[in-house]
Amino acid sequence: MTGTVERDLETLGAELRLPHKVRTRVERFSACLWETASLQRHEIREVWERSSSHGEGPIMVTSCQRLEVYSTDDCDCGAPLQKEGMHALRHLAEVAAGLHSVVLGEAQILGQVRTAIQEAPAEVRPLAEVALAAARELRRETEFHSHSGHLLDRALSRAELPAQGRLLVIGAGAVGRLIAQRGREMGFDEVIIASRREPDAAWFHDGGFQFKSVWDMHTLEPVDVAVGCLGSEADELRPGEDLPGIRHLAVDLGTPRNFRDNGSLRIITIAEMIGPGNDRPHSDARRAALRERLHNILDRRLTMMSHDSGSPVGNMRNAVEQVRQRELPRIQEKHPDITPEALDAITRALINRIFHTPSQKLKQIDDPELARSLAELFSEDGSSRTRRPLSSAENDE
Ligand SMILES: [Zn+2]
Repeated sequence: MTGTVERDLETLGAELRLPHKVRTRVERFSACLWETASLQRHEIREVWERSSSHGEGPIMVTSCQRLEVYSTDDCDCGAPLQKEGMHALRHLAEVAAGLHSVVLGEAQILGQVRTAIQEAPAEVRPLAEVALAAARELRRETEFHSHSGHLLDRALSRAELPAQGRLLVIGAGAVGRLIAQRGREMGFDEVIIASRREPDAAWFHDGGFQFKSVWDMHTLEPVDVAVGCLGSEADELRPGEDLPGIRHLAVDLGTPRNFRDNGSLRIITIAEMIGPGNDRPHSDARRAALRERLHNILDRRLTMMSHDSGSPVGNMRNAVEQVRQRELPRIQEKHPDITPEALDAITRALINRIFHTPSQKLKQIDDPELARSLAELFSEDGSSRTRRPLSSAENDE
């Protein structure tokens, strides 16, 4: 299988003017990408086997739509799409921000990426954390009006079905909950949740849902629509045996698929909701705009990352940034009417304006000792050299 490789051309790094150290790291960053939406179990297994050629250590991001491996290796694993350098890093940030999800900006993927990064080795982790932090920042400043529950809207409109009658939601994880709640909002008369155990959570108790164990949901009266939201471990459900009668539509949100296709049941899969016939010009335009905004955030954070290289300017800017970060919550408390995004932008702009000229001048000082002494004026404990550099991936949730 020959795949497509997006190589990082000189232009990206040069455009950014990243310092050598960061640039070298970015250039070695690579991504091997598989789309896995709605594959069958044996097909998924094959993808897993291929991806395992990366050995131990890389970042593995898995969701119902994708399996992605981020590493610093050169490899010929045969992934259908590979990205390198800045392209790979941008892709990771986009995925984490939900810009590649069927439902734009859905939140689950952020947690999935975070988990993957937490387990990653030191060579790839710092850069990946910058991508994750950029994704978080985009999410903080952006209002996403959709969540995974809106997959139900998408499926019903594809099938030209009204939201009425009995809805069966199989699986009580995050997606199952959102689908069930959305089903209520849309006007289904009854919403039944089938899972291994009855959910013991407020959303379930207060939601007016019925419960049925997955083991005997086949005994239910027929439902109008059934939605499968089971995780990758779940066995395939057989219509007529494991499932109750389904009058109109089965929506399969599982990867691998939740429902066995027996030819007589109308099934809509995730893959179908991504594929052709889903032209959404408005949403595409918004995705493109968000992607551009995210790239800017990422670029800024990479530049910040380069500040920790121990230069006098870097130390000064980090010291100032730490004060800013510390003051933000206090200012926010006094001025709840200003949004966190606006506050962040205002304070950042002010500091940049004040420190732009001193930074330029400091860079031009040819005497390292003098430069260091000047930079230390801003260091609160007088030892900016030993100060922990501000991570550009600060945990800001
Ligand atoms: Zn690979």
